[in-house]
Amino acid sequence: MTEHLTDEFNKLDACIHCGMCLPTCPTFRVTGSEAESPRGRLFLMRQFVEGQLDSPKQLAAHLDPCLGCLACVTACPSGVEYNTVLAASRERLVQHQNPVKRGFRRLMLRHVLPNPFLLYLIKVMTRVYEQSGLQQLVRRHHLEKLAGPMGQLEQFLPTLQPGAPLKTGQVFGENRKGRVALFVGCIMNAAYAQTHQATIKVLIANGYQVFIPKQTCCGALAHHSGEMDIASALARQNIDDILAENPDWIVVNAAGCGSTLKEYDHILKNHPQAAVFAEKTIDVIALLAKHPLEGAMHTLNLTVTYHAACHLHHAQAVHHEPYLVLSQLPGIQLVPLTEAEMCCGSAGVYNLAHPELSLRILEDKMDHVKNTGAEVVLAANPGCMLQLETGIRQAGLDMKVMHPMDLLALAYAD
Ligand code: SF4
Ligand code: SF4
Repeated sequence: MTEHLTDEFNKLDACIHCGMCLPTCPTFRVTGSEAESPRGRLFLMRQFVEGQLDSPKQLAAHLDPCLGCLACVTACPSGVEYNTVLAASRERLVQHQNPVKRGFRRLMLRHVLPNPFLLYLIKVMTRVYEQSGLQQLVRRHHLEKLAGPMGQLEQFLPTLQPGAPLKTGQVFGENRKGRVALFVGCIMNAAYAQTHQATIKVLIANGYQVFIPKQTCCGALAHHSGEMDIASALARQNIDDILAENPDWIVVNAAGCGSTLKEYDHILKNHPQAAVFAEKTIDVIALLAKHPLEGAMHTLNLTVTYHAACHLHHAQAVHHEPYLVLSQLPGIQLVPLTEAEMCCGSAGVYNLAHPELSLRILEDKMDHVKNTGAEVVLAANPGCMLQLETGIRQAGLDMKVMHPMDLLALAYAD
């Protein structure tokens, strides 16, 4: 085992088996099984490291359903770095995976996700499917069942926003408070291009000049699946390209990307600029919370509730900032969401890999969302947005999902 993995696995010693993380773990709550809890998973990781498991598959069977939501990290009184031991275990487990499956995944992570043209093409095709009436036909007659297990994925398709992705080199607004690089991401830039436009509008109104630096995929999916060489290569590329522009801040509006960018100093331990990059990275709502909102805003007269994306709340410790910013919008009634910080079951591609478990976790979330009576549910992560959209559609609720920046941009509408 390499030295850095030995260091990570030494962190297993911090677990005192108290069980305080169990009630916060979505997979434990749904299954009631110790092996699907943080404590159980840590125990299995230790057995794996000490060579006490017959096969790596015994560990993979329980790590695969882990959402990586990090609610256990927030709950742990002993400071167990579950996220780092999880990443180390996954890095070791990938060596034992089926080479064909792994090869396909590596192809997607290295050559499809970081390719804006391919993602835009997929978006255009999906919009044709959605807008032509074909999707309605499929859903009305349950034709997705003809596609077997793959058909389950149809229910998670987001309603894609129109609009072309942002391009490298674009600059917006005047610099009064700072010059910020907008990290556009891969899926966010293709699927939620309008949210980027909204983010730019809000930042300009608040005195920031926004530019789009040369960049690539943040590497979150590669990191979470244990493909560390790909995650490291993407991290190196982003550090070189974005820091070359010397931004005051690197602003992100997708919680999953933001938490990965902030982990670059951990992914690339010996990179001289990784820590600077991580320190400059900030979620847009945390940046806006630094000062009172500026500029004239419309009164919106809306009841909204806020779902705290795991990778913003647990991974980036952005807790009170969204409430601070949203409470400044005129006419907004912000209704508290019970267990707002509990995962919605999206977690990257989790809803595609584990659709049944994902939907069971979503059911609890939707019960709480429904009880708020809100007209809009806000979420600052594309995965959560599409998962909540699925929940609302399946529950037949008259409610809309929005990114907080879309709501702020409405208040700042011309
Ligand atoms: S709360 Fe922390 S110390 Fe307690 S069982 Fe969970 S991981 Fe271990
Ligand atoms: S990351 Fe989330 S799903 Fe995984 S063990 Fe921790 S609380 Fe449970």
